[in-house]
Amino acid sequence: MKERTLLLIKPDALQRGLVGDILSRFEHKGFKIAGVKMLQMSKELSKEHYAHLVSKPFYPDLEKFMTSQPIVAVVIEGKEAVEVTRLIVGPTNASKAPGGTVRGDFSNSTSRNVIHASDSKETAEKEIHRFFKPHELFDYKLNDAFLYASDE
Ligand code: UDP
Ligand code: MG
Repeated sequence: MKERTLLLIKPDALQRGLVGDILSRFEHKGFKIAGVKMLQMSKELSKEHYAHLVSKPFYPDLEKFMTSQPIVAVVIEGKEAVEVTRLIVGPTNASKAPGGTVRGDFSNSTSRNVIHASDSKETAEKEIHRFFKPHELFDYKLNDAFLYASDE
């Protein structure tokens, strides 16, 4: 139950006033917010976070976009957080993302796709560490008696 993953609510979502709507999706699903902060991504941080994409032709635009204004970083905690969060987010190309997913409902673009979510448990650990110090994450109790059966 303690699985954690990282979300980044991207500049397009802030610009369009979607932060609350996006965060609600994860709260309503039953996930706990373990940490949240606003930050300005530097070029160095962008290159580290998107190291697997630095050589792609679209990387300069991605870096410019992600460093253009503040973003909101969120650590989500709960059952199968990494996999379920990716399902809620939807595929990278928001034009093809199903309705009901965050990208499907809020974007029609491959680049301005409103949100980042870690793609595996290993990546999630690295990415949480990249954006949050241990004391910025909180271990409070969420009353989940109505969310799960006792053996789940
Ligand atoms: N991206 C882009 N053009 C592409 C592919 C990706 O601008 O053709 C951007 C997009 O913002 C995407 C991010 O690069 O969310 C990271 O790409 P990745 O393949 O890791 O997709 P994600 O994990 O975000 O679904
Ligand atoms: Mg990715």
